[in-house]
Amino acid sequence: LSDKLDKALHVLKGHGSITEVNVAETLKEVRRALLDADVNFKTAKEFTNTVKEKALGQNVLTTLQPGQLMVKLVKDELTELMGGETAGINLSGTPTVILMSGLQGSGKTTFSGKLANYLKTKKAKKPLLVACDIYRPAAINQLHVVGDQIGVEVYSEPENKNPVQIAQNAIAHAKQNGFNVVIVDTAGRLAIDEAMMAEIANVHKAINPQETLFVVDAMTGQDAVNTAKTFNERLNFDGVVLTKLDGDTRGGAAISIKSVVDKPIKFIGTGEKMDAIDVFHPARMADRILGMGDVVSLVERAQEQFDEEDARKLQKKIAKNQFGFDDFLNQIQQVKKMGSMKDLVGMIPGAGKALKDVDIDDDAFKGIEAIIHSMTPTERTQPSVINGSRKKRIASGSGTSVQQVNQLLKQFDQMSKMMKMMQGGGGRKMMQAMGK
Ligand code: GDP
Ligand code: MG
Repeated sequence: LSDKLDKALHVLKGHGSITEVNVAETLKEVRRALLDADVNFKTAKEFTNTVKEKALGQNVLTTLQPGQLMVKLVKDELTELMGGETAGINLSGTPTVILMSGLQGSGKTTFSGKLANYLKTKKAKKPLLVACDIYRPAAINQLHVVGDQIGVEVYSEPENKNPVQIAQNAIAHAKQNGFNVVIVDTAGRLAIDEAMMAEIANVHKAINPQETLFVVDAMTGQDAVNTAKTFNERLNFDGVVLTKLDGDTRGGAAISIKSVVDKPIKFIGTGEKMDAIDVFHPARMADRILGMGDVVSLVERAQEQFDEEDARKLQKKIAKNQFGFDDFLNQIQQVKKMGSMKDLVGMIPGAGKALKDVDIDDDAFKGIEAIIHSMTPTERTQPSVINGSRKKRIASGSGTSVQQVNQLLKQFDQMSKMMKMMQGGGGRKMMQAMGK
């Protein structure tokens, strides 16, 4: 999914001019990508229609950087589609009872352990794990292994074949022994069958949990949606857990499930280890689906800092060849306002990793600023007047060398040429140019 969306949005990213046809074309690609990722047709269509309306309403076509605005619109809408806000887990009740449901192999037992560990370490809870998968002795054992790993007690009755009783006994045990969360792991089948649904429904009815979580393997695509629908009809569950999101991203499941059952996704599983659990953040998932790293927040920060009006004035100056050192200084200050260089570079997809070990100096601009400060107003607006003796004066005034002054003049000259070439770029391109 992410590759395809990337391709779709690529056309628009960073391009100064797009047309209405262009927008429609892009959204068509976005829709195709969503369909390919098992998002159902209706959802995908509604999605692109909404984005289109918003894009036209916001005059995407006349803004400075329409491509980026489109990326932002798509991302915001995707976030909304996945629930908007992060949904919390209900920890009321003494004890809080949490019931796991889902097919065999979806990751219920693993997630039960992860959740217990999360509640214990992050929420200072005293959880009890309950083994209600009575069909395979190995299942009870698996939960004990998990419990030992994280130091959480596991309640089981290997001889008892009645999961309703086991669950009820476990809750009584929890009350007597000061456990404030009871996590009930249940049996699943490979496919939906009536016996399994009846059993989980009985347990559900008997223990009346605060949270019934539906656990689903994110890799199973459209099947995940159908399963979710069946379980929801039977249990009216409270939230979804998407497991196995560590491999290839199938964000499609997150979008479809949310839109079909209209229940929040509460957690995701990202690995087999006990700490591979994350609270689900719709916005982050949208980023992930769009494969943009944190590029969206970079765009947002850039938009905040580079006032459009300023950018327009600047463009005019560049066009008229009036860009001087004062403007340069101004740009440096703008870039600095956006945060540390390291942070900024880290937000560029791909660059973060590549530049992880490179030391990016926040003081890189200091010498440059000092040199510009030592220039007279005339020198700043007309750098061509800076001759040998002026260079010497500037160097000593700024505590730098003539060589450094020369270097800056040369860079500035190159930059002016470059800016003239890419007129209309606005803040982001300016930044790129300065980064070089
Ligand atoms: P259950 O049958 O629903 O209880 O599923 P299990 O908890 O036994 O998990 C089935 C398999 O999926 C096991 O091999 C787990 O290690 C694996 N698994 C569970 N959650 C994740 C996850 O988030 N990522 C990965 N990679 N594997 C997982
Ligand atoms: Mg299990």
